[in-house]
Amino acid sequence: MTYQGLIHRYKQYLDLPDHTRIISLLEGDTPLIPMPRLGRELGCELFVKFEGLNPTGSFKDRGMTAAVSEAVGRGAGTVICASTGNTAASAAAYAARAGLRSIVLIPEGKVAVGKLAGAIAYGAEVIQIQGSFDDALSLVVEITQKTPIALVNSINPYRIEGQKTSAFEICDELGSAPDWLCLPVGNAGNITSYWAGFKQYQKGLPRVLGVQAAGAAPLVLGRPVEKPETVATAIRIGKPARGEQALEAAGQSNGKIVAVSDEEILSAQRMLALEGVWVEPASAAGLAGLVAESGVGKLEAKGKRVVVVCTGHGMKDPSIITESFASPKAIPADYRALAEMIGA
Ligand SMILES: *Cc1c(COP(=O)(O)O)cnc(C)c1O
Repeated sequence: MTYQGLIHRYKQYLDLPDHTRIISLLEGDTPLIPMPRLGRELGCELFVKFEGLNPTGSFKDRGMTAAVSEAVGRGAGTVICASTGNTAASAAAYAARAGLRSIVLIPEGKVAVGKLAGAIAYGAEVIQIQGSFDDALSLVVEITQKTPIALVNSINPYRIEGQKTSAFEICDELGSAPDWLCLPVGNAGNITSYWAGFKQYQKGLPRVLGVQAAGAAPLVLGRPVEKPETVATAIRIGKPARGEQALEAAGQSNGKIVAVSDEEILSAQRMLALEGVWVEPASAAGLAGLVAESGVGKLEAKGKRVVVVCTGHGMKDPSIITESFASPKAIPADYRALAEMIGA
């Protein structure tokens, strides 16, 4: 049967109200890519769940199809979100699809160019806040309490419903849950969703390794971070809305939440790209955590089946690559120059 999107496929497992009217861009159904070479190096059976292949380039589309379907079904005319970028692009795309107005609040100057361009292209009204993501989130919470505007951040419960489907897909693909699931943690909606999804699906439970950036690691430090800083802008969050639930997922699963440096994140990004999977920096945090923990033998992932969730596409943040490399060498349009250049 042709694929009709994730709400259609997993409707019986999703707690969505009757008024829900499905708005879909055929999100989900993303590949679980075996990584035999990297897996050999790390001593485990490794897969990447490549969420960058969703319609707007990140896993946010899973939750957004659900949140916007519910909002439009109840008659909302406008959706709003705070975003480090990917939620904005996703909200804008699904609102456009549904014929709704979309407003997105982003922290000034801190959003990757591919994400900002997406939000604008899909027709969102983009507003920069002279503050952090956390400040922007407080504002949208307040305005949605005082007006009929629908909030589509991951504190919206339907976002979690939609995002559970990635856990279902992994179980369907592998026949059961993996031994470990490694993923980045920002506002902590995604780790909450995976854990809820695995518990509900009853195909076994993974141990969960949640990974934060060292400069934005409130769950590792045990306190909010006033000025979060990291190259991984998608997880540059100092006060995770679902922090408690993230700690619960790590605790209940006998997993853990760890922090990795920006260098470790960028190194993991390169490792993935050299296997043909280009992801944005935040998306490489799961692998960075796995590498760091395996290296010191702390993870007991040896010989185990491990799924690393790569949350967003590399094309979202091209400048992180282009700015760190010299521009390609130029030569005359001449055979000998080329042959000399490549040593042929
Ligand atoms: C949103 C996002 C995250 C963080 O997800 P949370 O649900 O906020 O923890 C990680 N990576 C990418 C690419 C994202 O867009």
